[in-house]
Amino acid sequence: MREIGHFIGGKHVAGTSGRFSDVFNPATGEVQAKVALATVEEIRAAVENAKAAQPAWAATNPQRRARVFFRFVTLLNQHMDELATLLSQEHGKTVDDSKGDIIRGLEVCEFVCGIPHLQKGEFTEGAGPAIDMYSIRQPVGIGAGITPFNFPGMIPMWMFAPAIACGNAFILKPSERDPSLPLRLAELMIEAGLPAGVLNVINGDKTAVDAILTDPDIGAVSFVGSTPIARYVYGTAAMNGKRAQCFGGAKNHMIILPDADLDQAANALMGAGYGSAGERCMAVSVAVPVGEETANRLLEKLVPKVEALRIGPYSDDKADLGPVVTKEAKARIEGLIDSGVAQGAKLVVDGRGFKLQGYEDGFFVGGTLFDDVTPDMDIYKTEIFGPVLSVVRAANYEEALSLPMKHEYGNGVAIFTRDGDAARDFASRINIGMIGVNVPIPVPLAYHSFGGWKASSFGDLNQHGTDSIKFWTRTKTITARWPSGIKDGAEFVMPVMK
Ligand code: NAD
Repeated sequence: MREIGHFIGGKHVAGTSGRFSDVFNPATGEVQAKVALATVEEIRAAVENAKAAQPAWAATNPQRRARVFFRFVTLLNQHMDELATLLSQEHGKTVDDSKGDIIRGLEVCEFVCGIPHLQKGEFTEGAGPAIDMYSIRQPVGIGAGITPFNFPGMIPMWMFAPAIACGNAFILKPSERDPSLPLRLAELMIEAGLPAGVLNVINGDKTAVDAILTDPDIGAVSFVGSTPIARYVYGTAAMNGKRAQCFGGAKNHMIILPDADLDQAANALMGAGYGSAGERCMAVSVAVPVGEETANRLLEKLVPKVEALRIGPYSDDKADLGPVVTKEAKARIEGLIDSGVAQGAKLVVDGRGFKLQGYEDGFFVGGTLFDDVTPDMDIYKTEIFGPVLSVVRAANYEEALSLPMKHEYGNGVAIFTRDGDAARDFASRINIGMIGVNVPIPVPLAYHSFGGWKASSFGDLNQHGTDSIKFWTRTKTITARWPSGIKDGAEFVMPVMK
């Protein structure tokens, strides 16, 4: 059985713990490799490598740091097919979806090619008599990233690209479900000219995460994953004196007003609800048509589309969606569908028990559609993270608005309408981080920042955009007066108003 280890000091190294986690091919259900789970000592080894490499990297001028990312972007494009296939083999999503995953990360790498401009400080001439004052942004030192299984390309790059561009060294702890792509990205960073030790990839589970959270040399931690772990990582990192940004789960609603283009809305729901088997933190899992007539017309359009979804392995280039990530994920999703039925929702399309010919042991769940879902049901309250869409009927706009407002999560939300007034009112009043107006998955591009509100995010700076430059740097402010500007000798008191 193939063993997947770590990437420390610019080299692949085998794991030493003797503990492993299975890496599946979700389409066949087979174990295709075993990934090593790191010990505390292995995390320490990565940190020591990072410590040794970081000062010289931070002293490298920003245009040279940018050039590594220019070359890295070229390599990503050259290797796109290989990288997307590697990702799909472990994650299960279609190759096109995997390309999207990598491209969204690549765009963050393009953004940080502007690091000479992005990391510039501020200067005030004459802040006092012959006094100049300036602020500079210095790297935190060593940063760490802990990432989920669902975007093994994009999310590691959200983190390591700005962190490294700012002059930090980095420890990446990817998901143990699909570790091969992050390791390959680290190899390509070396090929792009990154000095060994600046980017280290350590595979592992809670032991590795806890070692990162308590390591005295790691200054900042970025986390993306489920809400309970995000909350834990945020609290533990903060207690250990680290800055932390931690992003959690979601339950994204799409409100459909009576004046919306319903063909557009139905198509948008298909991509946003079922694409990538619903395993996206920005997936739409709740549709809220306003008014009975809107709901009935929407359902008429949706049902045949959900029934016609083509489900296949990643190698089927016509598939709309692939399997979910593990057998446990499949069982969990099907259990939630059972609960929806038991709690009185109307199951319009049932994806339970779906079997694909030739892939009978794969972790497939068929596209599922519920109508008449109410806020007290588990399928409404819980993030399902599968190809399951719930329709909650609302009588009017205020009732529709109140649903996402009251929900625990606040990652993304969308409104479909032709009414600019309503859309503007919605965007202004809603307590959610990312809003789409006739856009179902409003993921901000690399030069804006990504982050939710409420239980979808802990910490105060978002991923990518200028927020990421702030997160991965510390501000230092210098007040300077040169001898010729000092007229009256030394001063021993704080300046006072006279
Ligand atoms: P997860 O929380 O199970 O795992 C995320 C990371 O935490 C992994 O690296 C994992 O090894 C580690 N981890 C797991 N259990 C841990 C523990 N007890 N202690 C310490 N570390 C632990 O999440 P997942 O299943 O990989 O990813 C899916 C989740 O991620 C969904 O909830 C999804 O909404 C969320 N997500 C959020 C965003 C966002 O930006 N808000 C983006 C993508 C995914």
